[in-house]
Amino acid sequence: MKRLKLIALFLFSALTLQVSAQQKKYAMVIHGGAGTILKKNMSPEMEAAYIAVLTQALQAGYAQIKAGKTSMDAVEATIHVMENDPHFNAGKGAVFTHDGKNELDAAIMDGKTLMAGSVAGVTTIKNPISAARAVMEKSEHVMMVGAGAEQFAKEVGLEIVDPKYFWTKERWNGLQKAIKEDSTKAVLDHGSKKSELLGSKNHDYKFGTVGCVALDKAGNLAAGTSTGGMTNKKYGRVGDAPIIGAGTYCNNETAGISCTGWGEFYIRNVVAKTISDLMEYKSLSVAEASKIVLDKVGKMGGDGGLIALDKNGNVAMPFNTEGMYRGTITTDGKIEVSIYK
Ligand code: ASP
Repeated sequence: MKRLKLIALFLFSALTLQVSAQQKKYAMVIHGGAGTILKKNMSPEMEAAYIAVLTQALQAGYAQIKAGKTSMDAVEATIHVMENDPHFNAGKGAVFTHDGKNELDAAIMDGKTLMAGSVAGVTTIKNPISAARAVMEKSEHVMMVGAGAEQFAKEVGLEIVDPKYFWTKERWNGLQKAIKEDSTKAVLDHGSKKSELLGSKNHDYKFGTVGCVALDKAGNLAAGTSTGGMTNKKYGRVGDAPIIGAGTYCNNETAGISCTGWGEFYIRNVVAKTISDLMEYKSLSVAEASKIVLDKVGKMGGDGGLIALDKNGNVAMPFNTEGMYRGTITTDGKIEVSIYK
């Protein structure tokens, strides 16, 4: 009898463990940029607005997954919400170059096929993430830049806008401030500890690049990133976001990854692909691999964060800044959104 009880207890615990493991399976993870994001500098209204749009973005992507659509559809739908919302440095509300322009970068990658698409330095495409997807699906190329990418987007029927569409007062003021404080260095739009160390006091711009990784019902991963880059960046500067392997990468065998932070450091460390490689060749978990690579970025002087989601639905969301706008949704629809450390 005692033995029976023990067996029953064992089975019950095993079942509970399995259920809680299942509950922890994530369908999507998103970020809205990492930086000097402190609660003391955030008004309750602003905080509520961020939480609302992050939630809305997760819901938009999750609706696709629930409807049996692909992870690519989920990533695109999620990023549309954030590109269209001026709170984030992507699409409307993108930061300005030194010359007062909005030059946007975006990338998307399919973990099943390892197909990828990206655009860089575009100024008229309303939703650069869709242009990145079009490059992947409707051209024989991976990356298109500037006027050519814009022409292509027009040809495939994407919405083209006047560059003024991206203009926001907040970002414009951000540029003026950055130019005044630091006329020679580009700084992260949302502020950065290291950029402060380098002499910039530009830590009031707590808005960021956006990214999403999704896992669909068929078990396929997709990852995407969209950004305006860094405030006060030089003409033609391209960050990590549209560079496959640096700011964006996805492989069903390992994970989907989207980065945010000081792009130059992410490019030099080939961050996203290195995380995937550590998982593929060294059998590290998504959390271990993400931590190792982000630590390296930090040691070199780069700051930021990243999101990663593996094929089994495990997430990692490390960052070495004060905060990172981020959120997850489990396969059964439970949403969690966070901003601070
Ligand atoms: N990584 C982006 C870039 O360097 C900036 C950001 O994440 O906010 O272009």
